[in-house]
Amino acid sequence: MTTTFDIIICGAGPAGSTCALALEASGLRVALIDKQGFPRDKICGDAVAPYVPNVLNTIHPKHKAAFEQFKEKETVRTLRIVAPNQKKIDLNFPKKGVISMRMHLDHFLFEQAKKIPTVTTFTGKAVSDVQVTAKKASVTLKDGAILEGKIIVGCDGAQGVVAKQLTENKIDLKHHSAAVRVYYKNVKGIPNQTFELHYLEDVMPGYFWMFPLPNGFVNVGLGMVSQAIRAKKINLRKELIRIIEETPYLKERFEGAEQVDSPKGFGLPLGSRKVKISGDRFMLCGDAASLIDPLSGEGIGQAMISGRYAGWQAKKCFEQQDFSATTMKAYDKMVYDKLWKEHRMHYFTQRAIANRPWLINGFANLALKNAFVMRLFQRAFW
Ligand SMILES: Cc1cc2nc3c(=O)[nH]c(=O)nc-3n(C[C@H](O)[C@H](O)[C@H](O)COP(=O)(O)OP(=O)(O)OC[C@H]3O[C@@H](n4cnc5c(N)ncnc54)[C@H](O)[C@@H]3O)c2cc1C
Repeated sequence: MTTTFDIIICGAGPAGSTCALALEASGLRVALIDKQGFPRDKICGDAVAPYVPNVLNTIHPKHKAAFEQFKEKETVRTLRIVAPNQKKIDLNFPKKGVISMRMHLDHFLFEQAKKIPTVTTFTGKAVSDVQVTAKKASVTLKDGAILEGKIIVGCDGAQGVVAKQLTENKIDLKHHSAAVRVYYKNVKGIPNQTFELHYLEDVMPGYFWMFPLPNGFVNVGLGMVSQAIRAKKINLRKELIRIIEETPYLKERFEGAEQVDSPKGFGLPLGSRKVKISGDRFMLCGDAASLIDPLSGEGIGQAMISGRYAGWQAKKCFEQQDFSATTMKAYDKMVYDKLWKEHRMHYFTQRAIANRPWLINGFANLALKNAFVMRLFQRAFW
């Protein structure tokens, strides 16, 4: 059976749901497909950057207002960096960020998109095949149903099927990280409205994190650049538990804490290189477009920014009745104008500190004495 839409969005995470929101005013018929049902878990640190409400605001103030009302989030205003020498630097941000389990955050965004009358959602339906011809774009679902439209937006995450079938993009370990996450309850000494990054000599380039969630939950994780994981033959899941159990100053904070689930891992395609993110009748967003910050590992905000731009670009394509790769390049420009400079700078910072714990120690010592160095630290994160 074939059903016709104007735009097919494959994947309804932050990128896909935001793209659907950005298409609301266009009146175009949108199919928003996800292989899972919502609410669903997504392995993540759950940290949502302070600019995210503004991304929603630029689509429509009602989405920002709804996000402010959304309850399942913990406010954070301070990032505590712990250097390998255990010096602590507290970076206070002018705007608050939030930590929200992706189970809840993605469900919230999906429900906002689902309210739009011109958006038809398909959940529990995996896209297995993607086709683009001169006249149309179509996807085949695992159950054999075919959805067709004029444009496909690939928001199906790292290793998504749209990028696999429409581009030659491949993983490059220099521009890729991997990370594991586990939920705990009742970890001791969690400072108020503060999330923590710990740089540990054994796991560089990378960091261990503890992010506070509502109801005493804490998102605990470890991320590292994939090239180093391979070179050092590190098993991230085991390493995460080893850090918790054996690092003296962390061990005491986990005494009596409850491990809620088992460590789970996933890949992070970094935005420190440009890949093909559009072509005839298609655009890629979020992780599918390799847009994660190379230093912080954040990708939720980038997914939403790119999803918004893809929605806006799709609308322009319909106005001009032009779905060619040349026209679609305007999307690449919007994305990279917004993100590229910062991602490159963060990539070089990540490379500079890669195997130099002494450099982070030195910066930490200086930042504690010098406001200018403290601001440099601050700029490297939120
Ligand atoms: C351990 C870890 C920690 C992280 N921590 C943070 C953090 O603290 N803050 C932050 O900002 N970022 C973090 N990130 C990055 C962040 O998770 C991603 O950048 C973000 O999820 C990208 O959103 P997305 O919408 O592009 O993709 P996703 O969130 O991956 O969504 C893709 C969607 O597509 C669906 N899908 C996939 N294949 C198909 C298919 N064939 N058919 C239909 N649907 C499909 C999936 O079910 C999913 O719902 C972390 C990543 C990892 C791995």
